[in-house]
Amino acid sequence: MLACSLVFCGPVAIAESGLGAESSSPQVLSEKRYSLDRRVSLKIIDDLSSPLYEMEQLRVVKRSAGTYLREIEAELARVFHYTPENGVSLSLLSRAQYQDYIGAASWANAVFFGGMITVPVLGVDARSLAVMRRSLRHEYVHAVCAELSDSKTPAWFEEGLAQLIEGPRNPRLVPAFQIQLQTGSLLPFSQLASGFTALPKESVAAAYAQSLFAVRTIVNRFGFTGIRKYFAQLSSGSNPSTAFKNAFGIPQSEFETAVGEQAILWLSSGNAVL
Ligand SMILES: [Zn+2]
Repeated sequence: MLACSLVFCGPVAIAESGLGAESSSPQVLSEKRYSLDRRVSLKIIDDLSSPLYEMEQLRVVKRSAGTYLREIEAELARVFHYTPENGVSLSLLSRAQYQDYIGAASWANAVFFGGMITVPVLGVDARSLAVMRRSLRHEYVHAVCAELSDSKTPAWFEEGLAQLIEGPRNPRLVPAFQIQLQTGSLLPFSQLASGFTALPKESVAAAYAQSLFAVRTIVNRFGFTGIRKYFAQLSSGSNPSTAFKNAFGIPQSEFETAVGEQAILWLSSGNAVL
């Protein structure tokens, strides 16, 4: 069973979709449950604003969600050399339900919490399904981190890895990281260890960018083999700094200093890619 961890993800899609105005709790008309495959259960909460009244739309969403999850499951099983065991629940909410669910964290376009991935259904057109695919890929990484590390992976590591794997980069990351580096230095990694919801809203995109930058550095230097070792260390009960040293061979503090130096080089190079 997955332990409770709260991870909010991906700062962009909801804001771009114009959400945020609704504040009253929408009325639930029905709750339907399905099994997408042996490991993934699906819950759909329908309300007056849901795009899932129509059976054909519901079929498209179910089929797409199943395809996207099987796809990322196979990718990560290959990368991390493991067979998933824990079940994953997927909860699809209407926009209004979702907004009610996430409350103040309006920058989050999907959530993984306690073994459940929750995403809003924006529609069944190609763009909306592409957003859902990206969200499911991102959230499924959290599910795998939880399974392999017994939910002990620091938030910055999970968010960096999830962004590395989810798909094309969020366009808000580069400017946010540039501003963060121009006005000071990296955010303290200790501040990014237990989730980003306590951060000032203006620091959230920079926190995601820094996480991505750091984990990309880890992948380039140590590969996914190092990450597998890190998860195993965390899962066996090592504290995060010991796990880091044992998996990657250097103290985390030394790594953080190196990331800071590389980030300054990245900034001065004018490189607009993360
Ligand atoms: Zn995330």
